[in-house]
Amino acid sequence: MGAMREKHVKLEGTGVYDIAIIGGGAAGMAAAIGIGLGAKNRGLNSSAASGRQGSRVAPGERLRVAIFEKNSEPGKKILATGNGRCNLTNTRCDGFEDVRAFFLELGLLMREGGDGRLYPMSGQATSVRGALWECLTRMGTETRLEDEVLSVRATERTEIPFEINAKSGMHAAKRVIICAGGKAGPQHGSTGDSYAFARAMGHSVISPLPALVPMTCADAERPRLAALKGVRVKCLASLFSGGAKLGQSAGELQFTEYGLSGICILDLSRLLRGAEKNSLRVCLDFAPRLSESELKTVIGKNLPAGLDGILPAKLAALVAQEGRDSADALAGLIKNLTFVVSGTKGWKEAQVTAGGVPLDEIRASTMRSKLIPGLYFAGEALNYDGVCGGYNLNWAWLSGMKAGRAAFFDE
Ligand SMILES: Cc1cc2nc3c(=O)[nH]c(=O)nc-3n(C[C@H](O)[C@H](O)[C@H](O)COP(=O)(O)OP(=O)(O)OC[C@H]3O[C@@H](n4cnc5c(N)ncnc54)[C@H](O)[C@@H]3O)c2cc1C
Repeated sequence: MGAMREKHVKLEGTGVYDIAIIGGGAAGMAAAIGIGLGAKNRGLNSSAASGRQGSRVAPGERLRVAIFEKNSEPGKKILATGNGRCNLTNTRCDGFEDVRAFFLELGLLMREGGDGRLYPMSGQATSVRGALWECLTRMGTETRLEDEVLSVRATERTEIPFEINAKSGMHAAKRVIICAGGKAGPQHGSTGDSYAFARAMGHSVISPLPALVPMTCADAERPRLAALKGVRVKCLASLFSGGAKLGQSAGELQFTEYGLSGICILDLSRLLRGAEKNSLRVCLDFAPRLSESELKTVIGKNLPAGLDGILPAKLAALVAQEGRDSADALAGLIKNLTFVVSGTKGWKEAQVTAGGVPLDEIRASTMRSKLIPGLYFAGEALNYDGVCGGYNLNWAWLSGMKAGRAAFFDE
């Protein structure tokens, strides 16, 4: 990071840009590289891209690209992803081959970590950000750190239509890519500014909700949670609102003092939009491959110690206490331990945002706005959210690359 800061002069003064990227996170960095790759594919020098076929830059002219990033470093959130290991894509994602090729071009190799999840070969998120950063530096992209964008406006001017009001002053751009993220993880920089920019230019915004976020439980659950705090266990979790089952997810569950966490709970949290808050519950099945009667037979042979061969000790103790000595009740609890849910932990603990600029207001092949010529969106600013496993970063890279390339060719 020392080297990064050296290369990063805090830029003062205003600029006129061919392409301005708002937000230097995963999508913004991929967009800037997409511009460079677009230039390279046309046989142009990406750091001083003289315009030829397609790009609207005059021959011999340098393409001026800037990333406006409010943090003092780009890609801060990338470092927090995958518990510092960065689960950067998944072999099951749409467009995964393109993402892999993109990173290969940057010299980053990947290795699989189960269920198609891909991580950098180094096992460190810093390698991912480093590879992106190296490439941007090579390409000569102007990265305006600590330069928060306050507003973006599309004017009537035809040549340089966009006005960007940033902390450093007023800037102008021919094309703008909005990559300022959603509202999840505000401590990493994304506080929902994409939505204000989009609305100001006539786009609608589907109300943002925290997703991939732990769930909180009703106060009445506190004693049970206190007994289970810290327990991690594999299960099949089902989410209900009143009598309606909203969905189910299998994977690791983690009990906390306030509620439920772990991958299966994070995935279920994506389904909470529109759910009746006061009738939510999560039902946990700790033996999804066994029927209740099979379980009863196993437990009944060795009561109450039979539970210890099935569940972690603290969970076995709670189930034993609630099921007393009845094999029927114990098997029922193992198949269906229910917790009343009160809500979610909120933006600070959310990994992604559900909601954002509707995808039908954007052309899918170019990420270009259908409303404003020259305006593009990428990443979490848009109404896309995926399950855990690399789907969200895959979207950020892919949509960023597409937007960058399309902005370069003015598609
Ligand atoms: C703890 C955590 C772990 C995660 N782990 C994974 C994982 O392993 N795999 C996975 O696929 N996904 C993961 N995600 C989700 C993934 O990180 C996001 O979906 C992805 O980073 C979104 O990329 P983005 O570029 O759209 O937004 P962001 O990464 O949020 O970047 C937006 C950038 O815009 C900047 N910005 C915001 N407003 C302004 C402004 N007004 N002016 C200038 N700059 C601005 C921000 O500072 C930020 O740098 C995780 C998220 C979190 C929080």
